[in-house]
Amino acid sequence: MTTDYKATVFLPTTDFPMKAGLAEREPETLKQWDSMDIQNLHRAVAKGRDPFILHDGPPYANGHLHIGHALNKILKDVVVRTQQMMGKDANYVPGWDCHGLPIEWKIEEKYRQQKKDKDDVPVVEFRQECREFAEQWIAIQRDEFKRMGLIGDWDNPYTTMSFDAEAQIVREMGKFLMDGSLYRGAKPVMWSPVEKTALAEAEIEYHDHTSTTIFVRFPVVKASTPEIEAASIVIWTTTPWTMPGNRAVAFGPDIPYVVVEVVKAADESLANAGEKLIIAEARLEDFIRQCGIEEMTTSATFKGKELDGTVCRHPLNGQGYDFDVPALAADFATTEEGTGIVHIAPGHGADDWILGQANDIEIPQTVGEDGCFYDHVPMFAGKHVYKVNDEVADALQAADGLLARGKLSHRYPHSWRSKAPLIFRNTTQWFISMETTALRDKALKAIDETRFVPDTGKNRLKGMIKTRPDWCVSRQRAWGVPIAVFVNKESGEPLRDQGVMDRIIDAFETEGADAWFASDPSRFLGDGYNANDFEQVTDILDVWFDSGCTHTFVLEGRDDLQWPASLYLEGTDQHRGWFHSSLLESCGTRDRAPYDAVLTHGFVMAEDGQKMSKSLGNIVSPQDVIDQHGADILRLWVVGSDYSEDLRIGPEILKSQSDIYRRLRNTFRYLLGNLNGFTEDERLDVADMPELERWVLHRLWELDGKLRQACNDFHFHPIFAELHNFCTVDLSAFYFDIRKDALYCDHAGDRRRRAARTVLDAAFNCLTAWMAPFICFTAEEAWLARYEAKEGDSVHLRTFPEIPDAWRNDDLAAKWAKIRNLRRVVTGALELERKEKRIGSSLQAHPVIYADAKDIAIFDDLDPAELFITSGATFTAGQGPENSFSLDDVSDTWVVAEPAAGEKCERCWKVLPDIGSNADHPTVCGRCADAVVHGSAATPVA
Ligand SMILES: [Zn+2]
Repeated sequence: MTTDYKATVFLPTTDFPMKAGLAEREPETLKQWDSMDIQNLHRAVAKGRDPFILHDGPPYANGHLHIGHALNKILKDVVVRTQQMMGKDANYVPGWDCHGLPIEWKIEEKYRQQKKDKDDVPVVEFRQECREFAEQWIAIQRDEFKRMGLIGDWDNPYTTMSFDAEAQIVREMGKFLMDGSLYRGAKPVMWSPVEKTALAEAEIEYHDHTSTTIFVRFPVVKASTPEIEAASIVIWTTTPWTMPGNRAVAFGPDIPYVVVEVVKAADESLANAGEKLIIAEARLEDFIRQCGIEEMTTSATFKGKELDGTVCRHPLNGQGYDFDVPALAADFATTEEGTGIVHIAPGHGADDWILGQANDIEIPQTVGEDGCFYDHVPMFAGKHVYKVNDEVADALQAADGLLARGKLSHRYPHSWRSKAPLIFRNTTQWFISMETTALRDKALKAIDETRFVPDTGKNRLKGMIKTRPDWCVSRQRAWGVPIAVFVNKESGEPLRDQGVMDRIIDAFETEGADAWFASDPSRFLGDGYNANDFEQVTDILDVWFDSGCTHTFVLEGRDDLQWPASLYLEGTDQHRGWFHSSLLESCGTRDRAPYDAVLTHGFVMAEDGQKMSKSLGNIVSPQDVIDQHGADILRLWVVGSDYSEDLRIGPEILKSQSDIYRRLRNTFRYLLGNLNGFTEDERLDVADMPELERWVLHRLWELDGKLRQACNDFHFHPIFAELHNFCTVDLSAFYFDIRKDALYCDHAGDRRRRAARTVLDAAFNCLTAWMAPFICFTAEEAWLARYEAKEGDSVHLRTFPEIPDAWRNDDLAAKWAKIRNLRRVVTGALELERKEKRIGSSLQAHPVIYADAKDIAIFDDLDPAELFITSGATFTAGQGPENSFSLDDVSDTWVVAEPAAGEKCERCWKVLPDIGSNADHPTVCGRCADAVVHGSAATPVA
């Protein structure tokens, strides 16, 4: 009788397919998670543990998700899942930012298409349309986020437009009102004449813009020093339209200035022979060239501070601009461009305003909300500031005030929405003072007490807080939470009455912020006040104030969360956005930051490092990646990238992620296949295992420590690379390769095979858990491929396995590093033999290794042939013969690959001398004969 030895070999058996088919499989997994209510189970297993609260920065609900959203939310998911698996209770509640200009703009666009005027629509009706628009996008974005595998309370997210949120936002605003830090003031703000609103920093983009530049003389009427008598101070500006708003000029106190007398000017020059001009010495050369001055003499040189006390007249003096223009010292005057003397229009610049305030300079109201000069502005009334530059220059020239004009292309602020250039405009706005309640100091202290990852974020945020002006919180729009304040018409003071505030909050709780616009003011003012004495403010709050309050209505407002958050995690742009506004809101109301730690990530670029854009056609959408490759590939890209810098994505990068994924998947498949039928009884104690197995356990112990450290540091890509390396190099190319023979061919009860299966079981338990936060779908698939029997089971309900310290073995690790090094020489020699077709497989070889006696001693208790996957191996002390194989980087080791002596076992393919030692099985080796008789795949263990 002939035995079918193939049937007696333990070939790997698993239903876990090699081909992933993620795009089809993942939606099925999502359905399973939904039907088992994974979120609730996730909470239930973590009940009573220490909380880890990652507070979600709300994305804006107005379009499909882009790759930046995917990066942000997947990174958050990885943090949440790793924290939960390290033994925390990590509840994640996603949220949405709903109020604000972009949605309002969409509804207005719709009106424009329908030839409807927004001002004809009742405000409450308009707000309802905005609300519905946001709701529709929240539903779409929620599905898109869930498809990425993000765990969280998707059934109960937070939104900034829910009634309780709107009530809480106005309650928070009320705190700033009551403590006196909310005030109404006049201030230049970045203003969009197109949208007719003030814009926040985050709503501003910088684009190239060509401006008209002018050099203008301001004749000195009161000289601080005799040297400048009858001279003119020269300024340069890129915004001629701000000249009607000019009220001062500013010099740098330490900058050297000169008085020059024009001797000769070119024919077309506007400079006059004999006139005296004052300008920074460093700018003189450029200036005389631009003004066409051909000859001149310098009559004086002095430091800027000498100009203190000088008064000029406006160049349009006599035409309605009949006021003094003082020369003031200012640190922001530099010699980088212009003349070293800055023209000051306190209504049209932040520096200008501050300087004006400090010197009691009037802040003139010159430009209306539509960007046109008010009727009271001499010479230019009704003119739009965008179109008036040439006219201003002409008027200056006619009044002999102009020295030169030109063009300059430079970066200029534009509205992110309309793309129209912005202006600084003096307006009536609401502010939260940085000083009234020492908000700036509190915020700086809070930053010191916060952990930043990476730590450069700390100084970045600090720098912004140190120098920022008061927080302008008002917007002249309709879709948002109103600045629910009454202003006393007589005193101009806001009404600070907690009773009134409470009535407003109560109304918002049940009716939302619409109540402010739909109710009679007396409802809120109550019996104590006459509504006619008050003006009801209809500005809305900056949306950054809304999102700055999320920590209150989400973290404090929900029973399943707590304040403060463990972590805020957003893109680096949020230093001036959400991190910033949340910090100010929280420090103003709660004296500390709403977070213990802040983590930032970079932005996503195209593969070639370019910015993604429609015109370049290099946009990668998360939906496309998921449809084509699966969400786990997108997730791998996130954890495999260094998010502290800008990331890149494109077809080549996705292909390499797919390769990495395939190797991880194959590792799972190998483990599953060789664990087929493994039971608890088969387990062996560490002490009873061969060294090779104990070495693998040591590696697991090592990786466990590194992984936990990496998760606490939120530093994923190096540990992911290490795990990937462990799977491909340590396991697949080394351990699996060596143990294939034992797993396939040993007797079922053999100690070696049992040890190997015990280790595979441990590796499976570790790797499914460790990979679960990263490739959440595939880890689940692998886990269930083994444990499907357990109802409601999920890899995501586990924690990272506790690794016994007994697995640690540093001596063994050092020893095996040497073994693997020497083994590389043997493998190299065998590869060469194969390439030369002298052997088919390594099992046909019997290498002779020449090395130092002490290196040979390492193998004393080991079976070197097993480790080399050969049929035998011999060591010889000393140097190898000529032509023996060696590697440059492994010293004193030589290998000669001899053919193995004996016959080939029909079952295990080793070439051995004991073939036929069992007469019943004449074509197999002794080990195989024993297995076939007592415990093979075909004959279960006897
Ligand atoms: Zn055999």
